[in-house]
Amino acid sequence: MNVLVINAGSSSLKYQLINVESQQLLAKGLCDSVGTERAVHVHGIGDAEIAEEAYMPDHDHAVALVLNAITEGPTKAIDSLDEIDAVGHRIVQGGKYFDRSVIIDEDVIAKIDEMAELAPLHNKAAIMGIRGCQHHMPDTPMVAVFDTSFYQSLPPKAYMYPLPYELYEKYAIRKYGAHGTSHRYIAEQAADFLEEDLRDLKLITCHLGNGCSISAVDHGIAVDTSMGLTPLDGLMMGTRCGSIDPAIVTYVMEKEGLSPQEMNDLLNKKSGLLGVSGISNDLRQVDEQAERGNERAMLAYEMYSNSAKKFIGQYIAVMGGVDCIVLTGGVGENSARMRRMIFAGLQTMGIILDEERNRSGARQREISSDNSDVLIVIIPTDEELMIARDTYELVHDLIGNPDIDYNLDLFMY
Ligand code: ADP
Repeated sequence: MNVLVINAGSSSLKYQLINVESQQLLAKGLCDSVGTERAVHVHGIGDAEIAEEAYMPDHDHAVALVLNAITEGPTKAIDSLDEIDAVGHRIVQGGKYFDRSVIIDEDVIAKIDEMAELAPLHNKAAIMGIRGCQHHMPDTPMVAVFDTSFYQSLPPKAYMYPLPYELYEKYAIRKYGAHGTSHRYIAEQAADFLEEDLRDLKLITCHLGNGCSISAVDHGIAVDTSMGLTPLDGLMMGTRCGSIDPAIVTYVMEKEGLSPQEMNDLLNKKSGLLGVSGISNDLRQVDEQAERGNERAMLAYEMYSNSAKKFIGQYIAVMGGVDCIVLTGGVGENSARMRRMIFAGLQTMGIILDEERNRSGARQREISSDNSDVLIVIIPTDEELMIARDTYELVHDLIGNPDIDYNLDLFMY
């Protein structure tokens, strides 16, 4: 079965065409600056990638362009739209409504729209992507896969904030989490890699990139996660501050005369690695300057690692232990130095990194030492594949394909 995975942002539309049985990537690309005069369409895999300016006044045009590139001309991957069996859409915010992936119908679209309150840019864009696909492929089944659904299993003690209860009742203010599709994917892959049943494992999954989040996954069920009502909470990130004393917000607004929007920008776009180092949100650049003795770069680097270390400690306490710590994301997968700093000093908790394994090896590998009680593994994430699998699971009955055993029964979201 071929699944087209669509990830629509407010002015972008990323896509991958995946054959689920073979896990083969047939086509991929990105429509950027949709709705502007600078719109660009990048399409292709590896060396065959082409980028060209294109007329894309809206997401509907972007979808038409994508379908055309997939089925015609030099970038063609399949002969006709009939070979796209289903479409899987990434949805950022499913709120209280969705604890699993679902087949899209008008009721689902209405609920995604309602939840746009909590993620205005993302959910509205996702609906534009859905409408575009409906327009050009009216008979193709579509599935919505939510970043938040993995965390609907959190117990109230984890998802509630210690604020007046009415705020939860009136505005649904609670922790929803984010990056759920990535955490779900790496948890499942880690269990496969370790040849264990996910239901037998206590995992701490760490997605460390420009955006960062850490989750506690207890016997296959997410019981806590670092991101909150929005993806601003939790760890220090590339440009986001993560958890800070909430009193700082009103204090700085008063002192600097900032509007709520300006303060929001400061916390989301000017903080984190960038804000502390004054150099970049890109860890490689911060690292380079830290190596040269730049003190703010060193401080930012240490704060980032310390922030991850503290969440790992919290979640060991939450689950009463951990069997395996799973790392993914640009930093989690690639930065041996950051991993060394995160795990430094955790030997007394039975967490021991093997420095040689940490430095090099296969992309997916174990990096803990043989005498570590807790395993540490690197699992490259693949959110698109997870979306394609969910879509397959929900749609294959509709179109009469055989089952594939992904060991996903626990995770039928
Ligand atoms: P996003 O959250 O935007 O998906 P990524 O997962 O791509 O981000 O991670 C981007 C981060 O990963 C950047 O800070 C980048 O510096 C870092 N990174 C990527 N490769 C390396 C590397 N080889 N060494 C250190 N950091 C790296």
